[in-house]
Amino acid sequence: MSAVRNRNNVEKQSTSNGAQLTEVQKKELADLKKVHPANEFGGIIGTFLLTFILPVVVYWIWASIEFNNGYLLRPESLSVEGIKAFFAQLYFYIITYAYPTKQAAIIYFSWFGFQAFLQHFVPGRKVLGSPLPGGARLEYTLNGWASWWITLIVIPVAVYFGLFKATILIDNYAPMMTVVNIWSFVFTFLLKIHAKLKGEEERMSGYFFYDFWMGFARNPRIGSFDLKLFCEARPGLILWVLMNFSIAAKQLEVYGEISLSVILVCCFHFWYIADYYYHEESILTTMDIITEKFGYMLVYGDLSWVPFTYCFQCYYLYKHLVNGAPLHISIGYAIFVVSLKCFGFYLFRWVNSQKHDFRRNPEAPVWGKPAEFILTKRGTKLLCSGFWGICRHLNYTGDIILSWAWCLPCQFDSLAPYFYGIYFTSLDLHRCWRDHNACLVKYGDDWRAYCKRVPYNFIPGLV
Ligand code: NDP
Repeated sequence: MSAVRNRNNVEKQSTSNGAQLTEVQKKELADLKKVHPANEFGGIIGTFLLTFILPVVVYWIWASIEFNNGYLLRPESLSVEGIKAFFAQLYFYIITYAYPTKQAAIIYFSWFGFQAFLQHFVPGRKVLGSPLPGGARLEYTLNGWASWWITLIVIPVAVYFGLFKATILIDNYAPMMTVVNIWSFVFTFLLKIHAKLKGEEERMSGYFFYDFWMGFARNPRIGSFDLKLFCEARPGLILWVLMNFSIAAKQLEVYGEISLSVILVCCFHFWYIADYYYHEESILTTMDIITEKFGYMLVYGDLSWVPFTYCFQCYYLYKHLVNGAPLHISIGYAIFVVSLKCFGFYLFRWVNSQKHDFRRNPEAPVWGKPAEFILTKRGTKLLCSGFWGICRHLNYTGDIILSWAWCLPCQFDSLAPYFYGIYFTSLDLHRCWRDHNACLVKYGDDWRAYCKRVPYNFIPGLV
């Protein structure tokens, strides 16, 4: 109730601010209503293809891990017959083993409902998000850290009392993924209706599939319940970690051991997500929350892609057998991988936190000196010292290093477990380019001045 009241206050605040909008803010609001060119992600054709091809790619890697000892399935020949046979085989696996079952639907929607319950009812600190176009700021309740630990207590207790088995997630992996794929479509259609009814659509192109992919409203809410923050931060992310644990339990059940590689991957991912919730407020200054609209790209990415593909390393390590046993790595190799992970993590965490802290308190020193920055016409400040004075996206560099460190425990027999490293590197390169373009639009000459002052993106002196 108080959350609803608070939100009304925030909305009132933005409405009253509306009376004294600056020219820049007025232009930002007007731009939202303009027809936008369908020029991202390969435009109309690219977004149409991505919508349908991505789930097929995931089924392909799943089938390779599940049925081919982790080696990528491929056509026996590149002839029409060979390609047809390959797709027929993939279709057979999907229809036989990934058919959506009632049990998978019950598991998933209980999970989704449980996480929604936690987001809505667990108390948390209230903070204002970053300024939106026009200057308004939405209020968020930060209860992710508490919800994460509640989940990590409730699930093992339920397993202990025999409510379900620890292997329930991996035992239902493929049918559950199909349930979530269908749900992502339905959910996106509901978002479209919601945005239309509330008149919240912005930056629309008028092309159905393009807008379906890019989204409709930026921050859709039902009362005080923020749908984008929920999908971005809850059901998918925690499910990813639990899926890893479920795979580890399966390895223990089948082979009587949990291999060092699986332990490493489980710990790495657990650490990443625990850190994410510990620094929960930083989510509010990310591009996904500030800039992106909420559509199929984020819905499918958050709900399906993250939990069902980010666990591929663990899945591979469970299914890929060398001489009939799980893969083993040496202690020396494990130390190398852990060192790489720590280095990547150090960069990722401190670069992101530095920007976040600066935005919250621009007066605070950066590396012991007063922060240097460019004051933009929009009123925000671009940090030009510390990590952000070395490169414009060292946070992505750290994240890319992390992504490869997560794959290395799988060693080099197959490309399948490197899916995450390859995907994530491409994602961050593309993201960097998109963010650059978005900042050019947002900041114009101020962004050009920042780029001149800090010319490199990822590695100083190189790229
Ligand atoms: P950033 O946190 O770098 O956010 C970019 C925004 O920050 C810009 O649009 C701009 O927005 C602001 N900004 C840019 N430069 C400066 C500066 N010098 N000073 C102050 N503000 C600046 O990127 P993302 O939101 O894309 O990602 C955040 C983290 O999350 C990254 O580490 C990324 O790798 C990670 N990530 C991980 C994913 C995963 O699946 N594991 C998926 C997506 C992201 P404005 O000025 O409007 O505030």
